[in-house]
Amino acid sequence: MDAEKTILITNDDGIGAEGLGALVRALDGIGRIVIVAPEQEQSASSHAITLDKPLRIKEHSPLKFSVSGTPTDCVILAVHGILTHKPDLVVSGINHGPNMGEDVTYSGTVAAAIEGCILGINSMAVSLATWEGASFDGAASAARQLARSLAAMKGGKARLWNVNVPAIPASAIKGIKVTRLGSRIYNDIIVRKKDPRGKDYFWIGGAEPGWNTGENTDFAAVSAGYVSITPLRLDFTDHEGIVELEEQGLAWNPEITTR
Ligand code: MN
Repeated sequence: MDAEKTILITNDDGIGAEGLGALVRALDGIGRIVIVAPEQEQSASSHAITLDKPLRIKEHSPLKFSVSGTPTDCVILAVHGILTHKPDLVVSGINHGPNMGEDVTYSGTVAAAIEGCILGINSMAVSLATWEGASFDGAASAARQLARSLAAMKGGKARLWNVNVPAIPASAIKGIKVTRLGSRIYNDIIVRKKDPRGKDYFWIGGAEPGWNTGENTDFAAVSAGYVSITPLRLDFTDHEGIVELEEQGLAWNPEITTR
C-alpha cells in the first residue's frame, strides 16, 4: 500500500481504548491513518445506527475524531462527513475480547467493519481473544501483517474479514489460519436473582460459554495458538432454505383466517 492510501480506524471500545492505540501504532506508515471512534464504549452495540438524536463530532487532532454514537455511526460519518474520499481500508479494533462464532452478530467491532463493506470498502475487524488484562502486541503485529497483505489484494468486490488473535506473546503465535465461523455452547445463560425489594431481576451471561471445537473454525484456530481470519458475507440468504421452501409448495388460501 502506498502512502496515499487511506486507512480508517474505528472500534467499539471507545476513542480512549488501549486496543485502538495499539492498532494505530501498528498500522503507522502503511497508509494515511484517520481515526473516527465512539466517544464512549459501545461494546455489544451490534449494527445499531443513531437516527433519533443529533450526533456530535469532536476533533482531537487533524486525523483523530470521536463521535457521540455507535461504531456504525462512526463509519458513516467518517466516509460521508469527515473524509473527502472513500478510505481504501477500514480496520476496526483491536477489540478487548473475542468476536467468534455467533458473537459476530452482537459485536460493535464487527458491525463497524460490516458498515465499511456495505459502503464498498474492504474492511477488517480485529479482536484480542481474551477479556482478561493482556498485551495487545500479538494482535497489533497480526493487524499490521494482515493490513499490508489485504490492502495489496486485487478484486472488485468489497470484502469483510473477521480476525481473532490468541492472547499469547507475539513470538508464540504459530501462524495465520483461514477459518469459518464456529459455534458457541451456552450453559445457564440467565441468572435470576432477587433485588433488595424482593422482586426478580435477570442477568444475561451466566456461566462462561463453551465452544464447539469443529474443524477449521475460528475457535479451533485461536485455541491452537493461530491467528484466525474468517471472510464473512453480508448476504444472509439461505440458498438451501430457498429450495426447501420451494419444495414445500407454499400455497395461499384466503379462506384460512386466524379467527
Ligand atoms: Mn468491545
